[in-house]
Amino acid sequence: SCLNAIDQRDGSIGAFLHVDRERALQAAEASDLRRSTGEVRGPLDGLPISIKDAICEAGQPATCASRILEGYVSPYSATVIDRLHAAGAIPLGRVNLDEFAMGSSSENSAYQLTHNPWDLTRTPGGSSSGSAASVAARMVPGSLGSDTGGSIRQPASLCGVVGLKPTYGRVSRYGLVAFASSLEQIGPFSLDVFGAAALLQTIAGHDPHDSTCVNTPAEDYLQTLDTPLADLRIGVPKEYFGEGLDPEVQNIVEEALAVYTQHGAKLVPVELPHSKYSVATYYIIAPSEASSNLARFDGIHYGYRSPNFTDLESLYAASRGEGFGPEVKRRIMLGTYALSAGYADKYYVKALQIRRLIRQDFDAAFQQCDVIAGPVTPTPAFKLGELADDPLAMYLSDIYTIAANLAGIPAISIPAGWTASGLPVGLQLQGPVFTESRLLRAARMLE
Ligand code: GLN
Repeated sequence: SCLNAIDQRDGSIGAFLHVDRERALQAAEASDLRRSTGEVRGPLDGLPISIKDAICEAGQPATCASRILEGYVSPYSATVIDRLHAAGAIPLGRVNLDEFAMGSSSENSAYQLTHNPWDLTRTPGGSSSGSAASVAARMVPGSLGSDTGGSIRQPASLCGVVGLKPTYGRVSRYGLVAFASSLEQIGPFSLDVFGAAALLQTIAGHDPHDSTCVNTPAEDYLQTLDTPLADLRIGVPKEYFGEGLDPEVQNIVEEALAVYTQHGAKLVPVELPHSKYSVATYYIIAPSEASSNLARFDGIHYGYRSPNFTDLESLYAASRGEGFGPEVKRRIMLGTYALSAGYADKYYVKALQIRRLIRQDFDAAFQQCDVIAGPVTPTPAFKLGELADDPLAMYLSDIYTIAANLAGIPAISIPAGWTASGLPVGLQLQGPVFTESRLLRAARMLE
């Protein structure tokens, strides 16, 4: 039925870059057989899952929505993919993203636009555009995306689905094509909080292939899920309700907070004084790491090689010049500049200092509250094309999401309401490191 839904709907939505039908049907049959013999492997057994095309699976394309990886087939699988297979889930197809996960709208994909299922003239958000749209359009019940600076939570919010960015180190990044290694995590998209908990349960935990993946066991996220949190203290930062916040989004977030108070939660005003620097800080650190990570795409090791070269240097230059899109080039140039001799202290090291202050703001706020609530994005889904020519405006739309990546803390986006024109709006909950269980339980209370 998922394959049929893709046939019927994806022509107008554009979430999938590649669907592996035969393999999916075989896996579904194997799962049916397990069901008939009582060997079901858990809640994900037999469920088709879409995969952001930056998470490698052996034998499958992994383009990162970039021309430079056109035709590339991964020789190995990400740890999260191995774990999905082991749980009986069925990675069904590869879904669209902004090129190398850089962007917030799908417009940076070298291949296609993805449209918001609730209004096809609008963006589904990004960079995990296809993940969010494929779940929102009920083409698959779940998806894996990656969140370097909001790329799970922002599209989840704009598409009306659940999206969770785990604590840095909770989920293995082995097999995720690196954009900004110190910021990113793979995480789930789903229709409800149970789905996010089940997916996280499957992918979380230690992996010797990723030295930044922590060596502590993941909690059992499903066991406690339906137990509401008593005496929940919800931090409400005034910085999240200032200028630039759409009034309809603000109302929906405030209504969600009112629901929590009906459950006995207490709202606590908190301060995050350095949050105003988070966009500037992120857009130094992320491009710096990207400029280094993307050096491996040289026309020799992977993917596209330009025929227009005369020597080694022109081979590099032509392959990269023709293979990367404009936003990726912009990031490589910004990052190379910020890291270069004479500027590294002024920009990169300064950004690292501010990053520490942003983390300390959260540590102080979490002395007073259990979770921090606020909007995910300043506005509902914007029109495709509206911000495409204005990279700065696009960057500013990440204002509420990227501090969690800088601080390494977990955060979830859950559907909270609808605008008058029928667009979904999410609520964001952030917690101290390794409190995914608490975030999921708190999110469950709103369903
Ligand atoms: N909008 C962010 C960026 O363009 C999203 C990054 C991400 O989380 N992958 O960098």
